[in-house]
Formats: sequence, structure tokens, C-alpha cells
Amino acid sequence: MGGTVSIKAENLTAAVRHIVLAGGSNEREAALVAENLVLANLMGHDSHGVGMLPQYILAVVEKRLKVNAAPSVVGDHGAILNLDGNMGYGQVIGHDAMEMGIRRAREHGVCIVSLRNSHHIGRIGHWGEQCAAAGMVATHYVNVVGRPPLVAPFGGSDARFATNPYCCALPAVEDGGEPIVLDMATSKIAMGKVRVAMNKGEKVAPETLIDSHGHPTDDPRIMFGNKGPLGAILAFGGHKGSGLAVIVELLAGALTGGGTLHDGNWQRNTITNNMFSVIVDPARLGGADTWRAELADFVKWVKASPAAPGENTEKWGGVLVAGEPERRSRARRLAEGIPVDATTWGEIVEAGKSVGVGANQTNAAAGLA
Ligand code: NAD
Repeated sequence: MGGTVSIKAENLTAAVRHIVLAGGSNEREAALVAENLVLANLMGHDSHGVGMLPQYILAVVEKRLKVNAAPSVVGDHGAILNLDGNMGYGQVIGHDAMEMGIRRAREHGVCIVSLRNSHHIGRIGHWGEQCAAAGMVATHYVNVVGRPPLVAPFGGSDARFATNPYCCALPAVEDGGEPIVLDMATSKIAMGKVRVAMNKGEKVAPETLIDSHGHPTDDPRIMFGNKGPLGAILAFGGHKGSGLAVIVELLAGALTGGGTLHDGNWQRNTITNNMFSVIVDPARLGGADTWRAELADFVKWVKASPAAPGENTEKWGGVLVAGEPERRSRARRLAEGIPVDATTWGEIVEAGKSVGVGANQTNAAAGLA
């Protein structure tokens, strides 16, 4: 097998589904996990795609991730739902939590969903897109506990929190249109992207990482291994990004009851996400009659800014709004297939073997046999 294989989305979905099923999940769970991970790849976020499967399956085998779990309601205050994810697959817990929140937002105009204690919920844009598809506006704040910190605070030289993503999604203004989805880690890059760079033997951009002494480095390997202290990713945007990351940690960790990352609060060695979501029905707000037109006009206005010379124009041709890069990637990868590097594919095949799926079966499901 060469450096990278190209796999059609439906075949990759089938291969992942097969392995998740073999891990003990029911059909619905296996389908939700496979579709979620493959969509992340389609959207161009390989960091949150099928490359996560080996970690998930290891967690299943070691019983750190509970198969076929559902979120339980630990507090119900009408427009506020407090949920516990029971360390189930985040792809199911996130989906069901958003469904519950959307229903409540239809009823009350707004719902705050406080979700704690879910296994990794993946690409947060997925949850924004689910809310937007239901006609809702949603913001999501997510922290990560159960694993060591990864990101250094502004002015600090070691990691104190994780890549704490923030997402805001607004629904499409017309039927069949596309939502606006700002979905970003508050670190300069997501940890999964550091892993992807390491697997590909690539460096990361300058001013992204620091080593364990606080010195700049472009070597992704600094974030992996168990020999001595690791390096850290920098927060985006200096003190402002670092400030936002702290707010995200507090909303998602302290307010949900899922906990924040401090003083060894990561000993579980399992990716655990907590998410604070605010889901709003725009039909109940002051701009109910005009927001669609305003949104369309403003996006048009922003995109009409003449393209500046440089990297963005070379890559995209002009101004994009959040969510567009992902949609372009999805269109391209649906047509051309999803590239999966050999290291990642090898890890997926091994994950399959650990739950009794032979390499031939995984390769055949992926159309590689
Ligand atoms: P990114 O930097 O690729 O994109 C961030 C946002 O910027 C996106 O909304 C994108 O549409 C927009 N964007 C990108 N290029 C643009 C351009 N040229 N013009 C206009 N807009 C543009 O994303 P990221 O910060 O690397 O995050 C990657 C993924 O990692 C996200 O899906 C995030 O939710 C996920 N994540 C998850 C966790 C977790 O614990 N579950 C932790 C961290 C990150």
C-alpha cells in the first residue's frame, strides 16, 4: 500500500460501521458513528474523521467508552436541560442531546443544553449543522477532560487546558441552502491536526507549538510519547484566543458539572467532552421577519470585498464565510474519494482486528481488496 489510499465515502462508512458493530454497538449506533466520522473527513477535517476510530475501539475494549449508552436527563427546567452522556459514543450522545434541545427550543424559543460526561463528540460543527438544519441558531462551547492538557495559556510555557472548540451555526436562508457554521478549536490548530502531521511525517506551521521549555518548535512529535513532559500548542490570537479558551473551559466544564482540567483532573485517560449549547429559534426574536434577508445581504456584502493578494486568494479565490471551505471539500471528496494516509489506515485495520474483524474484511468493505 502506498503513502495514501483513496476510499469512496460509502465504502469508508461501511468499513467503519462494520468495526463499530463488532465492538458491540447496535446498528443505529454503528451507523451514527460511521456517518459522523466519514462526514468529518468529507468536510476536510481528517483530524476528527475515521482516524479517531482506533482510539474509540481501544476505549471500548478497555471499557472506558460504553457502547449503546444514551444521555440521561439529570435536571429538567423546561428551557434548560442538564444531561449526562454516561461516557457513551459522543456521536450518539451529541445527536440525541441536540434532538432533545431542538425540541425544547421549538417549545420555549430557546434551550440551553448542558451536557457532561460524553466520550469524544468529534467535530462540533456537526452539532451546529444539526441545529441549523432544524431551523435553529446555536452556539456550542466544549471542553475536554480525562486527558492531559494540550494548550498553553497566553504568557505560559506549559499546557493548562485543551483545544476547547467553539461553534456558532445559523440556518440556511433558503430551502436547500447552506448554513453558516463557524467551528474552530481555540488553539492555533486542533490536536488531531498535529497527529495527522506526525503520521504524514510533516512539520507544523511556525508559531504553533512550543517545547517543554516554552521554546518554539515545528516538530509535531513533541506532543506525543511518554518520555518526560510534552510540549504545548499555542492558543490562537494571543491573549484574546487564550481568554476565549478559558471562557469555553468554564462554560463547558464548570457550568455543566463535567469538570475543568486542573491539578491532575485528567487521570482517567479517556477523551471526555462536556458541551454547553444554546439553541435559539430565530422565529421568536425581534428580527423574525427580516433576519433571512439581512443574513443574505450581509453575507453578499462581506463576500464582495475584493480579494487581497496572498495565500487565501491563491487557495480559495476570494472571501469565504465560515462553513464554505468544508462544503467545497465535501463536494470534492464525494466525487474523488477520501484520502487516508497509510499509517491511519493501518491503525484502523488493527482496530478492526482487536474486535475480531480481519484485515481482509476491513479492506474489502473499504473497496481496497
Ligand atoms: P479550521 O481552522 O479548519 O476552521 C475554523 C473555521 O474557520 C471553520 O468554521 C471554517 O469554515 C472557517 N474557515 C477556514 N478557512 C477559512 C477561510 N479561508 N475563510 C473563511 N473561513 C474559513 O478548524 P480547526 O480550528 O482546526 O478545528 C477543526 C475541528 O476540530 C473542528 O471541527 C472542531 O470542532 C474540532 N475540535 C473538536 C474538539 C473536541 O474535543 N471534540 C476539540 C478541538 C477541535
